[in-house]
Amino acid sequence: MHSFVSRSYWLAVLCLAFSSCFASAQRPKNIILILGDGAGLASLNAASLYGYGAPQALFLQHASNIAWVDTSSASEWVTDASACATAYATGVKTNNTVVSERPVVHVGTDEGEKLKTILEYAEERGLSTGVISNAGATDGIVAAFYAHNKNRLAYGELFEEAMHPRFGDGIDLLVGADRKAVLTATSKTSHDAAQELADRGYAFLDTTSGLENLGGKTRAVVLTDNPDFDLGQTVQDSIKLLSKNPKGYFLVIHSDTHIPDARKTLSRLVDLDNITKATVDQAGKNTLVIFTADHSYGLYLTRHKEKQPKSRDILPMVTLDNDHTAEDVPLFAFGPGADHIKGFIPNTQVFSFMMSAYGWPQ
Ligand SMILES: [Zn+2]
Repeated sequence: MHSFVSRSYWLAVLCLAFSSCFASAQRPKNIILILGDGAGLASLNAASLYGYGAPQALFLQHASNIAWVDTSSASEWVTDASACATAYATGVKTNNTVVSERPVVHVGTDEGEKLKTILEYAEERGLSTGVISNAGATDGIVAAFYAHNKNRLAYGELFEEAMHPRFGDGIDLLVGADRKAVLTATSKTSHDAAQELADRGYAFLDTTSGLENLGGKTRAVVLTDNPDFDLGQTVQDSIKLLSKNPKGYFLVIHSDTHIPDARKTLSRLVDLDNITKATVDQAGKNTLVIFTADHSYGLYLTRHKEKQPKSRDILPMVTLDNDHTAEDVPLFAFGPGADHIKGFIPNTQVFSFMMSAYGWPQ
């Protein structure tokens, strides 16, 4: 009895390091990380009431593998998107405004050491990789997976890095809704994005509908000016494309569900919940799907001192303060290895979890 207890104890201690816990049969071939911008608990609660007139009606709210993630950055309790995405992408907390570089003393002036991202690890091992965002292809939250910069607003440099990768042949799929901003920024650094993308074998598109048929190409960059493109269809087409690689893939999907318009934010969250369900179904048994947020923010349902009868019409109850907040955000996991997700964890552990799930040493 005693030896059994002590063996289980040591197994539990080892399991804290994750990697020893993932039997190879439990390892996913692919990982998809879905980031709902600002999708904290209050937002999910409001989305459920707005979408279904009932609490806990979202697909996400039926998950059994859940953790709570501390989102604080190296410099502040309240993170910005790039710092939290850096923690997810690299396992290191950095300063706000920094993209996948180690924190420095003189923020904004000094360039920190470039951190190796999980997308770069995947490229190095020959997996296919992609990021999709209905904000921007160079928004800090997705750029943190393929680029490094002291300044999240250096769109030109961030985009350049996508085309000049440090590992493998670079990101295979990049989709964003900031065409004008990216092309203006790259032209200022005297680069011809269209020419460079063609030289590197990418299909360069201005609408997501082109992803359905790449005319024989296997890599694509979509820069659109339409943030309301069909994200669900784009995700489906992207999974089809990336899953052609027998070695597997790593995909990040970001939806801007942090908009100063409660109706739009909540309907996008309901959509993203449906997209998560469809992704879990489409990606199949060998794919680990993780949904979390980069931070929460001040979206709350309040009574406004008057009785509010239960109804789907919750918009009059919404109090909206656009500022980010410090509280932990929920993380939901589906698929092989998901049962290792539990408890309160730092944002850096999301990286360790994904690395261990793939079976890669850190
Ligand atoms: Zn955000």
